[in-house]
Amino acid sequence: MNKLFLLISLSICFSLPVSGKPAHTPSNYFQITISASSIRQGQTLTVFVNSANRLKRLELTFLDQKLSMDHVWHKDHAHLFRTFIGIPANTKPGSYKIVARGTDINRQKLSIYTLVRVKDAGFKIQQIRLSKKKTKLLDQKILQEEGAILKSQFLKKDRRVYFKSPFGSPVAGRVSSSFGLRRKYNGDAISTYHKGLDIANKTGTPIYATNGGQVTLAVHWKSHGKTILINHGHGIITIYIHMDKLLVKTGDWVKKGQIIGRLGSTGIANGPHLHFGVSVNNVRVNPAQWIKNRVRLFF
Ligand SMILES: [Zn+2]
Repeated sequence: MNKLFLLISLSICFSLPVSGKPAHTPSNYFQITISASSIRQGQTLTVFVNSANRLKRLELTFLDQKLSMDHVWHKDHAHLFRTFIGIPANTKPGSYKIVARGTDINRQKLSIYTLVRVKDAGFKIQQIRLSKKKTKLLDQKILQEEGAILKSQFLKKDRRVYFKSPFGSPVAGRVSSSFGLRRKYNGDAISTYHKGLDIANKTGTPIYATNGGQVTLAVHWKSHGKTILINHGHGIITIYIHMDKLLVKTGDWVKKGQIIGRLGSTGIANGPHLHFGVSVNNVRVNPAQWIKNRVRLFF
């Protein structure tokens, strides 16, 4: 009786494919895993590809964009790769395909896909009144110049990784403006969406590096004010804007929790606050998910 039961269980284990995953033999698998099957606009999705064989090439496609994947060390999986997908805040709700394509060392072409459902995040409209002096800083030419430099930074992808643990909070204080608000300045047509999280506190409050990385920009700009960018590797960059003091320079390496500056209201800011942003492979995402440790980092 016991022998028969054992035989049945063994045959079930080896013959049925796991639901949602392709049937595979243990010696030749190519799997895709995502951190959530349904996600809101502006959030970050983590994608893992796990392959039985060493890969010569691997690429991910999402929303007609191609994303490279980075190898991550895992004691049980020699060929494990990861990438982070930022869901743009203006993505139309619906189901989207994520396709992984690779070529292994035996020149075998591999392909697999999964679906993710993007849900409406319900972003609200916010009216902002600025003083005359601050309104001058809304100058489109200045904004475009600074924006172009930021954009060139966000496009950089460092294939190394400088974070080993979840991201910490950049500053103490209260959230004065959340991510994704559609903004209208002084009632006119200039309208953008808020690409970060505003945290208000007293001028001079210390600002911390949310994780390890390299300071790729530390500048004093007219519109953004005193600004710092930290590249954490694997497509993740954090942004710190409107600071009163910068305590690091471009090129410096920082550790998680290191003081990098002081909170202020330089540039287009109504009062002392930190505008904190996260760029994921050149998409500005909701930073709250990162600093609350709700982004899956590990397999
Ligand atoms: Zn802001």
